[in-house]
Order: sequence, then structure tokens, then C-alpha cells
Amino acid sequence: MTTVPVKKRKRRLRKEFKYGLIGLAILILVILIFTVFIPSSTRRKITKLGYSKESAVAIMEQKLTNTVLEKEYSEALDENLKRGIKVAEHFDLYYVTTNVNDEIIHLNDILLKKGYAKEDALKCFANLSFKEITPLLVFNNVTNMDDYIQDVTSHRTIQNVFVKNDYTKYYENVSQVEDAAALDVIVNKYNMISTDYVPDVVSCSRQYASEGVELRSEAYEAFKEMEADMLAAGVEGIRGVYITSGYRNAELQKELYDRYLNSKGELYADAYSARPGSSEHQLGLSMDITATNKESLEFDTTEEYAWISVNCHKYGFILRYPASGEKITGYSFEPWHYRYVGKELATKIYNSGLTFDEYYELYMRDYSTAEGK
Ligand SMILES: [Zn+2]
Repeated sequence: MTTVPVKKRKRRLRKEFKYGLIGLAILILVILIFTVFIPSSTRRKITKLGYSKESAVAIMEQKLTNTVLEKEYSEALDENLKRGIKVAEHFDLYYVTTNVNDEIIHLNDILLKKGYAKEDALKCFANLSFKEITPLLVFNNVTNMDDYIQDVTSHRTIQNVFVKNDYTKYYENVSQVEDAAALDVIVNKYNMISTDYVPDVVSCSRQYASEGVELRSEAYEAFKEMEADMLAAGVEGIRGVYITSGYRNAELQKELYDRYLNSKGELYADAYSARPGSSEHQLGLSMDITATNKESLEFDTTEEYAWISVNCHKYGFILRYPASGEKITGYSFEPWHYRYVGKELATKIYNSGLTFDEYYELYMRDYSTAEGK
């Protein structure tokens, strides 16, 4: 039996120990490369573009490193990452506008739900303001987004002319409203009510209205309160207003519309009158008013109009067809026409600066069952 000399055995052990150490060192190095050196050099590449350290970490965590490195610095992206926002879903938005907030993200989502192409939505945010984009939610006939953008941007300096061309096909893809009695129901050239619908209305006193005017009691009570407060406000020149028209049944609406249609044609009739089933007067929630001491067509020149147009939301009314919204609502400016929607919604619509039509599409419509624009 032979034995390995002690010396030799020691040498072999030392050799094994040496290789073991080298292996361990390589392992540690590899670990360091993947956990420290590569990340820190990636982070450096990202921060070199201009991003903050915390944004760089977030970009890596959200697995957007390569995409971000392919592009230039985006301040909007940086800011939102710092706020802890998950940016992947709306990633491209951060590269077309510096102002990406919850409202912009929501508007973008609704544009896509309406059926607009992602690229077209991005073009809008790159070139237009929020309020220049929201009409697209009502429009149903925008065939070329570049033309629309050109139309909007070339009319910015002209007051109340928002676009020159028409982007709507009236009375196409019309839906029937589900609950005509709801205070927040919208009725327009795309959302109509049955011509059989008759609301519960009350007769308005001759103190407040022309002979035979009827309204839903919610609207009538709110009007009386508004009138009293306006008279009590002590504004020079204010004498008060009265209601010239309230609830109109579909038959009367048809007569009015046909009168325009027969004398001036369809285009004119649709701009100044509603087809039966598409007038909010049939809801009993809309009223036309006029100043006690002025011709009704000059209502927008009165002190009463000046007061009501900025205060009516406090009583639940909105100026339904504003001068700046003619292309959106499809109606000429009607300073005398007010719609009751309740105080809360009226205030929200007033503060948004949008027409009811836009506000409805943006915040109220249920898209879960909708099949595009
Ligand atoms: Zn009216």
C-alpha cells in the first residue's frame, strides 16, 4: 500500500483552495457587474439625458430603459415619474406635450374610445389646447386630422370663430336617451327622446312668464330664486326677466321646425330650430327668457344677460348654446336659452368652460357599451 506523501497532499489542497478562491472572485465580479456596474452605467446613461436619479430608477423599474434611451429628454415624463406615475400606458403623450396631467390622460383615453387613431390623438396634443380638442368628442365627421388642426390654429385670433369648416353630420347614428326624466339628460342632434315623452310640468305664473308657459317644477322654482336674487343684487339697469317659452311638446316643435324648413331650407332650419324629439324644450327643463324692458333678440346686450350668464349655474342653469360653441352644439348663439341640469352639474359644466355636449361626452357618457363614435 502506497501513501501520498504529506508534502504532496498539502500542495494539492493549496492548489484546490487557490482555484476555489479564483472561482469565488469571478462569481462576485459577475454578481457585481449585473447588480452594480451595469445598472449604474444604465442609470448614468439615463441621467445623462437629463432625467433625475429617481426617474432613472423608475424608468428601469418600469422596463422602459431602451425606449427612453432612443428618445430625447422629456420634462413631462421626468415630472410624472417623480410623482410615481406608471407611464407606460400613455408613454407617447409625454413626448408630444409638456403638460401631461390626469385630465389630458383622460381626454386621450376618450378620444381613443371614440375611435380616433392613436397617431391622430397624439397630433392633437402636440398642436392643440385641451379646449381645442374636446369638440372632437362631439364631432362625427373629421376625415383628416391635419386639416382639422390647420383649421383650428388658423382661427385662434378671431373671437368666437373656432373653426371654419363643419365636422358634423347631424342626426346620424342617433341614440334614444334612456331616461328622459333625469335632470342631467342630454338631448341634441345625436341623442333624441321619443316624441311621445311628456314630462310632469307646472304652469308658470304670469308674474314670471308669458301666457301658458309650463316648466318642470325644479326648473321653475330655480328660476324664481334666480330672478329674486338678481333683482336683489342691486345692479344698475337690471329690471328683471320673464320666461317666453318653456315646455314644448313634439307637435309644437314640429310646427316650429317645419316653418323654418319650408321658408329657409334644411341647413337653416337645423341651425335655428330642433327637429321634433331633439329639443330640450320637450324635457320641460329648458326656457327662453327675455328682459322685461328689451326686445328679446337683443337680450345679449342687456345687464340681465350679463348677470345671468355668469350666475345662472348657481341656480342649476346653463347657457346651453354659447357664442363660442356654434360649431359644436350645432346651434347659433342663443343668449336667451337656458337649460336646467341642477346646481352641482351646472357648476361643473360652467367651470369646465365646455358646452354641455362636450362635457357629456368627456365625463358623463358610459362607454362600456358604446361601439365607437
Ligand atoms: Zn329655446
